[in-house]
Amino acid sequence: MRLVWFRNDLRCHGHTPLTQALAGGEPVLAVHVLCPDQWDAHDVAPLRRWYVLESLIELGEALAAKGVDLHVLDGGDFDGAVDALADFVAEHGVTGIFCNREYPLNELNRDRALARRLEGRGVRLHGFDDGVLVPPRALSTGKDTPYTVFTAYKKRWDAWMDEVDPGAVPAPAWPGGEGRFHGRDRVEALRDGLGLDAALTRPWRPGESAAYKQLYDFVEHHLGDYKAYRDFPSEPATSTLSTALSAGTLAPLDAYLAARRAMGDAAAREGAATWIGELAWRDFYRQIMHRFPSLAKGKPFRPETRLLAWNDNDEHFQAWCEGRTGYPLVDAAMRQLVTTGWMHNRLRMLTAMFLTKHLFIDWRKGERFFMRHLIDGDFASNNGGWQWSASTGTDAAPYFRVFSPLRQSHRFDPHGRFIARYVPELAELDDKTIHEPGKQPLLCPDYPAPIVAHQGVKQRVEQAFRQARDAW
Ligand code: FAD
Repeated sequence: MRLVWFRNDLRCHGHTPLTQALAGGEPVLAVHVLCPDQWDAHDVAPLRRWYVLESLIELGEALAAKGVDLHVLDGGDFDGAVDALADFVAEHGVTGIFCNREYPLNELNRDRALARRLEGRGVRLHGFDDGVLVPPRALSTGKDTPYTVFTAYKKRWDAWMDEVDPGAVPAPAWPGGEGRFHGRDRVEALRDGLGLDAALTRPWRPGESAAYKQLYDFVEHHLGDYKAYRDFPSEPATSTLSTALSAGTLAPLDAYLAARRAMGDAAAREGAATWIGELAWRDFYRQIMHRFPSLAKGKPFRPETRLLAWNDNDEHFQAWCEGRTGYPLVDAAMRQLVTTGWMHNRLRMLTAMFLTKHLFIDWRKGERFFMRHLIDGDFASNNGGWQWSASTGTDAAPYFRVFSPLRQSHRFDPHGRFIARYVPELAELDDKTIHEPGKQPLLCPDYPAPIVAHQGVKQRVEQAFRQARDAW
């Protein structure tokens, strides 16, 4: 008996473990282990849990329709998952487990514990790397060290992709007949227990079918304009596929191949190349997380930044969380996060820089707040993005680079359309005043004055980083 263990890869397309397991002529079962306590420990947002559980229901139905049984087990946490799987394997006479590798530290430790538990029982673990385009240990510098600068990594990444020239994963040889979905009731109970407001879940379409449809729609209608418009949050210019990619309802390889095909059309070439670059950023942060495991323990990548004396101002932190900083674009972004579970990339950079530079609050507090709200919350990309913004990470924004919230606002939301959507008390202001309502307080009495001045921030941050470096 072969077992396909579905984890962060809730799909049938582009799934090498499924295809390989079904290629052997042996009977195949599928399993997923629920670990709600691990979700608590990892600060997984309720909306993301909902997305995963809904996607799991779609997967269970799709597998059953093709003749494969899916068993949903209760693990509780990762230790419990190992116990549950070891029992399942013994009970069903499993000889091989097929799964995609996961690279965060706790996930690796879980898999090592399972491998130890199964040692000597004749059960082989078969790992695959469908969660990334280039496996995290595949590329090293000439000195055999990991790449820590994106531009150099990207050059090698491009060469690797050209050399390997991957094709789509072959479709599985389905057994046919009708399979069973064991434990669906547990998935539904967990989902219903989240008690989420329909207004929060309504805009999202979980599951593989929706993810692939979204990919093809994006490639057809928006990819060509991606480079020109991707920084403007009021435009529907980016794919919003981060949720599907991070829960694995979409295979990164299928996303890459769709963009590569679009490059055949001259009008889409630049946009597609830029978008593929973003998929490379995703791989970059995964290899960083894998090769620097201390990042998973809350450590900054740049050791000297451990000495930074962050401000512990709870009032400022709350104002940031609630979108009441008095900087309209920052506030609109934070309200977008809390009310929709998602935030545009430019605004993730802006709000993260604002928290860590203007308010000089520890990036770990912001990282956790993001995880607790993002539907696409993903440790590697979130940690990478936060450390980049806070100038504590690999390839980080130099510490002397501080985004001006006002300039970003004029540049990337010139007509204030995005601000008006999320900060309705400013919606009636003209194109100019909407960026700086503090200049006309009588027009918007409900909106706060800036909680901190932009002037002087750069100097304070420079001084703090210099002190940390000198003391190290
Ligand atoms: P598109 O522009 O359509 O890009 C396509 C895909 O490329 C994305 O879906 C994503 O998988 C990947 N990608 C794009 N930009 C980045 C990037 N900078 N780093 C890594 N991968 C990228 N992304 C997450 O998936 N989960 C997170 O928890 C997360 N947290 C972030 C926190 C901060 C502070 C910052 C600055 C960035 C974070 N990002 C995170 C990266 C990025 O903001 C999102 O991936 C992107 O906004 C998702 O929108 P999209 O799907 O429309 O992206």
